[in-house]
Amino acid sequence: MRNLLGGKGANLAEMTNLGMPVPQGFTISTEACTKYYEDGEKISEDLEKSIMEYIEKMESVTGKKFGDLENPLLVSVRSGARASMPGMMDTILNLGLNDSVVVAFAEKTGNPRFAYDSYRRFIQMYSDVVMEVGKKYFEELIDQLKEKKGVKLDTELTADDLKLLAEQFKAEYKKKIGSDFPSDPKMQLMGAIKAVFRSWNNPRAIYYRRMNDIPGSWGTAVNVQAMVFGNMGETSGTGVAFTRNPSTGERKLYGEFLMNAQGEDVVAGVRTPKSIDHLKEIMPECYAQFVEISNKLEKHYRDMQDMEFTIENKKLYMLQTRNGKRTAAAALKIACDLVDEGMINEKEAVCMIDPKQLDALLHPQFDVIALKKAKPIAMALAASPGAACGKVVFTAEDATEWATKRNEKVILVRLETSPEDIEGMHYSEGILTVRGGMTSHAAVVARGMGTCCISGCGEIKMDLEYKCFTLGGRTFKEGDFISLDGSSGKIYGEAIPTVEASISAELGRLMGWADQYRVLKVRTNADTPKDAKQAVLFGAEGIGLCRTEHMFFDGERIKAIREMICSDTVEGRTKALAKLEPMQQGDFEELYEALGGNPVTIRFLDPPLHEFVPTVKEDIEELAKTMGKTVNDIENIIASLHEFNPMMGHRGCRLAVTYPEIAAMQTRAVIKAALKVKTKHPDWNLFTEIMIPLIGDLKEFSYVKSIVVKAADELIKNSNINLEYKVGTMIEIPRAALTADEIAEEADFFSFGTNDLTQMVFGFSRDDAGKFLDAYYTNKIYESDPFARLDIPGVGKIVKFAVEAGRRVRPNIKLGICGEHGGDPSTVAFCHEIGLDYVSCSPFRVPIAKLAAAQAAIRQKK
Ligand code: ADP
Ligand code: MG
Ligand code: MG
Repeated sequence: MRNLLGGKGANLAEMTNLGMPVPQGFTISTEACTKYYEDGEKISEDLEKSIMEYIEKMESVTGKKFGDLENPLLVSVRSGARASMPGMMDTILNLGLNDSVVVAFAEKTGNPRFAYDSYRRFIQMYSDVVMEVGKKYFEELIDQLKEKKGVKLDTELTADDLKLLAEQFKAEYKKKIGSDFPSDPKMQLMGAIKAVFRSWNNPRAIYYRRMNDIPGSWGTAVNVQAMVFGNMGETSGTGVAFTRNPSTGERKLYGEFLMNAQGEDVVAGVRTPKSIDHLKEIMPECYAQFVEISNKLEKHYRDMQDMEFTIENKKLYMLQTRNGKRTAAAALKIACDLVDEGMINEKEAVCMIDPKQLDALLHPQFDVIALKKAKPIAMALAASPGAACGKVVFTAEDATEWATKRNEKVILVRLETSPEDIEGMHYSEGILTVRGGMTSHAAVVARGMGTCCISGCGEIKMDLEYKCFTLGGRTFKEGDFISLDGSSGKIYGEAIPTVEASISAELGRLMGWADQYRVLKVRTNADTPKDAKQAVLFGAEGIGLCRTEHMFFDGERIKAIREMICSDTVEGRTKALAKLEPMQQGDFEELYEALGGNPVTIRFLDPPLHEFVPTVKEDIEELAKTMGKTVNDIENIIASLHEFNPMMGHRGCRLAVTYPEIAAMQTRAVIKAALKVKTKHPDWNLFTEIMIPLIGDLKEFSYVKSIVVKAADELIKNSNINLEYKVGTMIEIPRAALTADEIAEEADFFSFGTNDLTQMVFGFSRDDAGKFLDAYYTNKIYESDPFARLDIPGVGKIVKFAVEAGRRVRPNIKLGICGEHGGDPSTVAFCHEIGLDYVSCSPFRVPIAKLAAAQAAIRQKK
């Protein structure tokens, strides 16, 4: 009943049913939380009434009474959503104490020190958690008192000291809040419950939900539970333990505990906890019972458990169990071990791994210990995962030069990157940009390369003239060290050592199982033979998107393409294109070789031409000289290419319509390369797919296709080789999706270009949206970045519509997705459901997509 009771509540109930020692309590459901928000953030009379009914029930079961002066009932108030959420509210312990109850409690337990310790903790937690008076004020008061008394540990404070502290805490509360600390236990309880509901929508929780695809509509449950006390003396204590080691996966009880302590003392780091093994020596019976319970829980949930317990006067209580969080390496080992132990089957093992977690295995990571000591100075978009550490450089040229000539590790810091920066990006350990979102140039290219990238860090103040920037109150000059965590978006102003990725045998086993169950094929987006080889190593089954323009930026090529752009005659353009053709052909040959006969989808020239023109004076002069034009001529041509909205301008197939010779040249390069490779490997069934970008109309497609077919057929006829090829389109303009039935008459395949499609459907620019999307998350208008996770209700609907329309007309039409979404697990699941043939994603996401595809197939069958 996790959906209704939240994870913590459901598992507490389950443990109670299993006969384990769990303190009495009740759970306020997630529905009550949703209702609270519907009612305008109010607890309804009904709810309040039923809460009090259950308090009475608890009173009769425990024989204690809320607010009683003889035998008082104290409770904890604990949040618990469906999925465990670290951003949520902290727990409040010892609720129900006030100035008179504490006296009774001290008498009843015969332990005034303990009673006042509980009381001061309660005031502290309530003030901090419910009323948001910072923790630090209370900690300062404790430190002052300890100093005055000349003691080091909290445990050395006496009952009178703690009583004094409680008084000081209440005074602090009054100072900060302006009213007295609430003494009525019922008011305390309602305040705490409301605080849990409210915490569902605090910024940390919202951020965490966005990162983990948790919908805001779920709400949180609240658990109200009778207190048991680990702070009653030397035969009491509290601790946490895992049934297996969460960092390595080793099968051995792993945990820590503290004697005479309560709640979070173990993790707070105030005192050093002891290893769980030590419990065996000091309380053998408790230890044996705990081992037995933990084995039983692991068998019951059939997964590694993370448990919390408290011992009150030698009696063990279980306070929580859940499937434990673990590192990627541990996750793989545990999944394989559980299969070998016969506890789960292969399908369950496949479903157990969070696909996103695999990132950590495929990219460098920070040294864990060094990372612990480091403090981030800022945070921005986690655009491409992995960890990077290096010296700051500000231009792509410097990156290349420092890396190749000086053998330095560098981090490239730019306002934004452009295609000209590719080489420098290749030589950088990591990339940091001031502007741009998840599908900005930097983000897309970095993911393709497997290079760590953080984008859209608007807090950076750049000073390019003096080659420095300021961030987090510090100035970084060229050559200063910084470190980036592309998986979390955290930026560190210091050097943190990294460790290389290592692929384990367990990953191989798991991917083998995933391959058995998935239906979707997984291809890769690769523009260079190098990326393609990497992707094949990761198990890619073809290229779903080769962006040919990325081949145009190298040395001589960029000159030829500039000549082409600046020619005013067909002849001039044809001459320049003739220089490019053999270079493109060579690249395609290498691509085919790297793919070994798997399909290759080659997209024809797509970006607006102004991206290619020279910006530097010398380059303009050189170009003018080669072309026999004046510098002024060239500058005029460049100026004429200016567009107000280039992403909606002269690009994609529109280039082929105005300059058919470009499409013809690219076709010749593709077909000649295929023919040559086919001669070398006659047994390969070469799948060549030519993809025309940005189509919005059937006639537009037919026109470009006729150019392609003419050029291709001529070459094939003359070669006497039986080469098949396909011509299809990217569906990335809403009109193409809406007229997909017409386009399918001519197109052999559709590949959904969901980056542009998202941009066009939403009507905002993928390069600029980052600037205002944050306000959309905070105001809960959007829950996730539509460029990272496909917007299923909107963009997904139009994709599904096009799939159905296309299949109606051409039942065997091949369908895929090649936007950045292709590597996002929730999008992969959607692609499986609507019956696409494949997804295509950057090389390093191939294993992630495969695992997500297998999970989607397994979950659908269930
Ligand atoms: P979290 O979700 O942050 O783990 P919990 O609700 O589990 O928060 O509470 C944190 C800790 O508070 C528990 O591990 C336990 O030590 C203590 N705690 C919670 N409820 C009780 C209780 N009823 N009796 C004693 N200790 C409790
Ligand atoms: Mg807990
Ligand atoms: Mg596009």
